[in-house]
Amino acid sequence: MAAALITGSARGIGAAIALRLAKDGFDVALNDISEKSFENNDIMEQIKAQGVKCEKFIADVSKSDQVEAMVKAVKELFGSIDVLVNNAGITRDGLLARMSEENYDLVIAVNQKSVYNMMRYVAPIMMKQRSGRIINMSSVAGLHGNAGQFNYSASKAAIIGMTKSAAKELGSRGINVNAIAPGFISTPMTDQLSEEQKKAILELIAMKRYGNVEEIAGVASFLAGKDSSYVTGQVIEISGGLSM
Ligand code: NAP
Repeated sequence: MAAALITGSARGIGAAIALRLAKDGFDVALNDISEKSFENNDIMEQIKAQGVKCEKFIADVSKSDQVEAMVKAVKELFGSIDVLVNNAGITRDGLLARMSEENYDLVIAVNQKSVYNMMRYVAPIMMKQRSGRIINMSSVAGLHGNAGQFNYSASKAAIIGMTKSAAKELGSRGINVNAIAPGFISTPMTDQLSEEQKKAILELIAMKRYGNVEEIAGVASFLAGKDSSYVTGQVIEISGGLSM
């Protein structure tokens, strides 16, 4: 059975992708930063109910040594890594003039360096298999910028460059690398926005609503599946028409 590893998958978009890939028939390796992230949720049970294998791997994806150990453990348990979804991400928003170096460095480490860490250790496994799908979670903030998200936009724009470079390097080995750029999706991350910010954002969205996590998971399923076999190096924006 093919296996998928999804980072930051205890909740939110990552959990929805994990469940969707389980429904598609993949064994699922969940990852999050701590055991606590999995408390009070039943994502593992929901995935196992699909009749596939599921295990959780605790690792901080910004840390190279933890990623190396996790990738080794996933490969040992599942036998292969066929789909990698680099989903873990954080925000530490603030205006540029007041942004601390600590918050800049933290967001770059968790959102951007993690993608390097994960691809560095998973790509050789996929190269040996001569097949694999890598899906990197960018954002509309990486495509278009966003006031108050200088650090976050930088990390998400970098992911687009990393996706395209890796697609060019790995294409001849049968590995497709694509990015998803969600707009505003209802998750704990967007719950942090003020009512005023939420109202202003809705004005800009053609479909006049936020997206839901299943709408991101559906596109991840397409990028992980047979129908996208000739799609690589692309960024798919899922934003209800936030930008056109
Ligand atoms: P979320 O609900 O905050 O979930 C993110 C998950 O990542 C959490 O479970 C979190 O764990 C985990 N995580 C954080 N740091 C980690 C680390 N160092 N190592 C491993 N796991 C870590 O966020 P989301 O809204 O689902 O977003 C998922 C991805 O989509 C992110 O990359 C985000 O930037 C991107 N995105 C989201 C939106 C949106 O509207 N929601 C829009 C565009 C892009 P804990 O919280 O337990 O620490």
